[in-house]
Amino acid sequence: MHPPILNQMLSSVPDDSPLQPGEVALIGAGPGDPGLLTVRALRLLAQADTVIYDRLVGAGIMALLPPQCQTIYVGKAAGDHVLPQEEINQLLVRLARTGKRIVRLKGGDPYIFGRGGEEIEDLRHAGLSYRVIPGITAASGCATYAGIPLTHRDHAQSCTLVTGHLKKDGELDLNWQALAQPGQTLVFYMGVNSTVVITENLTAAGLAAETPVAVIERGTTAQQRVLRSTLDDLPRLVAREDIRPPSLLIIGSVTALAYDEFQPVVQESVAC
Ligand code: SAH
Repeated sequence: MHPPILNQMLSSVPDDSPLQPGEVALIGAGPGDPGLLTVRALRLLAQADTVIYDRLVGAGIMALLPPQCQTIYVGKAAGDHVLPQEEINQLLVRLARTGKRIVRLKGGDPYIFGRGGEEIEDLRHAGLSYRVIPGITAASGCATYAGIPLTHRDHAQSCTLVTGHLKKDGELDLNWQALAQPGQTLVFYMGVNSTVVITENLTAAGLAAETPVAVIERGTTAQQRVLRSTLDDLPRLVAREDIRPPSLLIIGSVTALAYDEFQPVVQESVAC
């Protein structure tokens, strides 16, 4: 890469107005690899006084922040609890009122299973200014780094992003009949602990037990693992390989197209 040419190219990407004192930028950081940040995200990060981040934002991205920038972690520490969403919302409001330039950095895209809508609502009610910058969502980044096309003319005409997060009663209230229809790819977020429920419900709704599946752990980072199997084996695979969050479950025949030798293009230092 030739830096002067890169600078010239970047300078021709229209710039935003600078981040204002008391403004919050809600920024999607992508799934882990810092190379997947948008130009706009990078520019705004460089202007932040304070960055509020959680566990999905990897060390490789945090390493890019300006040295004088204050960072506040609101994710889960080892054995500790996550800061409740309401407290994060209030923290954003409080910090913005001090006149600092705030970045709320979230893994993937803020509006895809990111609770971005809730955080913005409180800022809006408080009359504070904000902007939202999209990011590459885990489904897109992880599938691509695993060599899996989410749609394919011969395999899947649609792709559904679904939450696998169990309700308190251990149930997952989804339209299983719709999800079991042929010709689509399903991507379950937050589904590592729900594989038994997912497999049981999809097979009961008619999806073939031998449907190919892939599990992608810490996708797009140097620690990425891609494992493939079939729907009926999914719970055993996750237990056998001790798959941990953050991981995605991809269900559908496109997962059989993944090439095993595919390696993500990330630096060794990138952790998630
Ligand atoms: N807003 C995020 C999703 C947050 S929900 C986005 O758009 O990607 C958290 C879930 O996202 C995790 O449980 C996992 O299912 C998925 N996820 C996020 N980053 C991931 C990664 N690097 N590899 C695998 N799954 C990831």
